[in-house]
Amino acid sequence: MDDIRHNFGGIEARIKKAAQEAGRAAGDVTLVAVSKVQPQASIQAALDYGHRVFGENRVQEAQEHWQTLKPPYPDLKLHLIGGLQTNKARDAVALFDVIETVDRPKLADALAEAMAKQGRRLPCLMQVNTGEEPQKGGVNPQELEALYKHTQEKAGLLITGLMCIPPVGASPIFHFGLLATWAKRLGLSTLSMGMSEDFEEAIRMGATHVRVGSALFGKRAP
Ligand SMILES: *Cc1c(COP(=O)(O)O)cnc(C)c1O
Repeated sequence: MDDIRHNFGGIEARIKKAAQEAGRAAGDVTLVAVSKVQPQASIQAALDYGHRVFGENRVQEAQEHWQTLKPPYPDLKLHLIGGLQTNKARDAVALFDVIETVDRPKLADALAEAMAKQGRRLPCLMQVNTGEEPQKGGVNPQELEALYKHTQEKAGLLITGLMCIPPVGASPIFHFGLLATWAKRLGLSTLSMGMSEDFEEAIRMGATHVRVGSALFGKRAP
């Protein structure tokens, strides 16, 4: 577990350096520690280290990880970073603090309804499929503006920004740049982009949230 402490320290230092080199304050960038597929002991080590912002990509697994671990940490923020089915919206709203993967009007409606019922108004991001990959979640760029309009005028969701996962093998900088441009056009300030392999480039391109898993916790079992 010493490794995890060491890894957090190392990644935090790299975030700070990348932010400074980009002329930004280190505090502008939030590290979302991706705890999917990690054993409870590793998550506990991160909590003991003092980290409080985590990401999970599946609702059921997140419940298993966090249902008992979350309540003792009232300042903990849990981000949903994976695709969400509408029938899981209620569970997602109950557990998470930020939903990063709003990508279609039906999901926006389901989330808005669940939030109204539970009296929880969570900040949300729209996931954009910047590479227009058929197998990947996210709204296609041509539909982004219409989706945003729907979230504002019909669903009434609190949308604070955009999130993307660039295609494997592509230059991530290009996709980060696109996402930043679109966020600016919509007047949105939060940019969730960059993972273990490319978070420094993402920070250079304006990321406010980087989602880092394996560089913190070690490689996930395949
Ligand atoms: C798993 C995952 C990450 C973290 O990936 P690493 O390469 O392990 O840092 C980030 N974002 C999403 C959406 C993920 O599913």
